[in-house]
Amino acid sequence: MTEVSQARRSGQIDLHLHSTASDGTLAPRAIVELAASMGLQTISITDHDSIGGVAEAQEAGRALGIEIVPGVELSADSSAGDCHILGYYVRIDDQDFTTWLEARRSARIERGKEIVKRVNAELRRRGSVSVPQLWWDDVAKRANIDEGGAVGRPHVADALVAIGAVASRDDAFATLLGNGMAGDVHYDKVSPNDVIDTIRRAGGVAVLAHPTYFPEFERQLPALIEAGLEGLECVYGDYSPHLMERLCKVATSHGLAITGGSDFHGPGLKAGSGGVGVPAVSADLLEPLRARRTMNPHYPRHQSG
Ligand code: AMP
Ligand code: ZN
Ligand code: FE
Ligand code: FE
Repeated sequence: MTEVSQARRSGQIDLHLHSTASDGTLAPRAIVELAASMGLQTISITDHDSIGGVAEAQEAGRALGIEIVPGVELSADSSAGDCHILGYYVRIDDQDFTTWLEARRSARIERGKEIVKRVNAELRRRGSVSVPQLWWDDVAKRANIDEGGAVGRPHVADALVAIGAVASRDDAFATLLGNGMAGDVHYDKVSPNDVIDTIRRAGGVAVLAHPTYFPEFERQLPALIEAGLEGLECVYGDYSPHLMERLCKVATSHGLAITGGSDFHGPGLKAGSGGVGVPAVSADLLEPLRARRTMNPHYPRHQSG
């Protein structure tokens, strides 16, 4: 561990973390333990299309004195390109929401099978003598789909590493799974508006994740805000200080809440490579986010906290 990641981070938070409920390599409990050992005040587990890690994280959080904001990261498709939208303070007991997420995970399973088919065809095309074979069952097991895990390209990547077809997750994305490559398969489309609406109906606050990954995001912002978007992830694991500063200005000028997180997927992985709690995100950002929740008409007024 680096010096900076060992420093106590009181007054700091990390609102973008992936666990084994999607494509992270650490269990929710292990992430909470790591965050607590670093002195983080609050974290959010934001798995792709899954809230399966939230309850375990909350239980660990209660034991370790660290606040867990229920979270999720949903993928959306639009004519402009793909975007990821984070949902904070979503109600994990909301039946409509859990049903919606289940349908998204089913779509991911169908897509996963298609990815395996196409990647095998691509491996055969490239191979000369012996060609390794990728198996869907292995991918499914890695994604824990029987326990509600959301399968994604990173699980295919891990299976490709296991059969010796590639050297690492990153290598798999660079050669077979990255955008426009054989394994870049889309699943049935959900629009950003539908995703934002779904988050709001679950009592949550919708935030555009890693905004610059969405092509021409500034041009898209007014429509997203009209649809109910309330925040912009301005502080992010892969962003330079200069970019983060620029995004904060964009958020402020549109009246959006500012959020931040690492996008940690596990030790040694490229996404969120700075680790849990990197870059530093101030706990001061939480209050404006919480305030948005209480303004949501779907926020349960009979509950506290
Ligand atoms: P999926 O949800 O199946 O489309 O997979 C998207 C996830 O794959 C992202 O959230 C990242 O965790 C990971 N990912 C995307 N691009 C790369 C890349 N170039 N290298 C490593 N991981 C990546
Ligand atoms: Zn991911
Ligand atoms: Fe993302
Ligand atoms: Fe993420």
